[in-house]
Amino acid sequence: MDKHPQAQVRYRRGFASDQCGKCTMYRKADGQYGTCTDVNGQITAYGVCDIFKGLVNPFGRLPQHERIMRANWHHHRMLSGTR
Ligand code: SF4
Repeated sequence: MDKHPQAQVRYRRGFASDQCGKCTMYRKADGQYGTCTDVNGQITAYGVCDIFKGLVNPFGRLPQHERIMRANWHHHRMLSGTR
């Protein structure tokens, strides 16, 4: 399967709750950048894109402050039309 170009999935700065470092498709490498199984090019753990898929947290639910931050961020993205 061909990987998506970064622009196609709007790769951009991530947020505390949603970022490549917490995505099932991120692959860490030595140095500042890693790779992604589905998006081309260098990927920093601090970015995010439209096909983000969060890892399951083995320690259970997110803490309340992080659930609130995530809900606010998704709400803002819906209002601003940036998903
Ligand atoms: S958020 Fe997007 S670019 Fe980042 S690891 Fe996940 S799929 Fe890849």
